[in-house]
This record gives sequence, C-alpha cells and structure tokens, in this order.
Amino acid sequence: MKILVTDDSKSVHGFIEAMFAETEHTLLHAYDGQQAIDTVAGEQNIDVILLDWEMPNVTGVEALKKLRDGGSEIPIVMVTSKNNVKDISEALTFGADEYIMKPFTKDILFEKLEMVLERKVA
Ligand SMILES: [Mg+2]
Repeated sequence: MKILVTDDSKSVHGFIEAMFAETEHTLLHAYDGQQAIDTVAGEQNIDVILLDWEMPNVTGVEALKKLRDGGSEIPIVMVTSKNNVKDISEALTFGADEYIMKPFTKDILFEKLEMVLERKVA
C-alpha cells in the first residue's frame, strides 16, 4: 500500500515512519498542501492520504478542497490538533473520509486507516 503523509513537521514524518517500520507499506512525504497536490498529480496508485490541517502555503483543508475539486477520490484522513466540532464536520463536508486528533498512537492511526480502507493495515 502507498500512503502519502502530509505534515509540515519533520518529527511527525519521523514518528509515522517508525509506526510503519515493520510493515511492507510505502510512505511518500509532503510538507505542505501544495506538495501533497503535486504528489497526487505525479504519482500513481496512492491508496490513502494523511493530511495535516495546519500547514504553511496551502493548508490541509485547502488541499482537501483542491483535491476533491480536481476529481481525486483517494481516501483522505485529516490530522488535526483542533478539537473544534464545527471545523471537523466542515472537513467531512469537503470530502475528508476520517480525522485523527493529535497526538495519536499507532493503534489509533492504524484503526482509522483500516476503517477508511476497509482492509488490514498491520
Ligand atoms: Mg502542521
């Protein structure tokens, strides 16, 4: 499986890499919303996108809208430190499939991915 990890924090990429270290999955990395959009445009067969909400340049929710407006149907899990129900329901309205609150554990991440993908991840 190919997973696009989008976050402006390098440490987040590092701990997500560690969570997947013993799996066969391939992680791709983007550091803002525009990079995520560019990666989706240039890369085949991405199975799921993890999209941080708060990023410079193009934010997660802006990238979400652009991806869906552009016709992408790749499942998207928003990752957010917001616990604002209004924002989260807005993201779901724009076409996010799920959301995860920071900080999260490996169990929570894998559980959400399995819900979205309807298959085992680990
Ligand atoms: Mg961020």
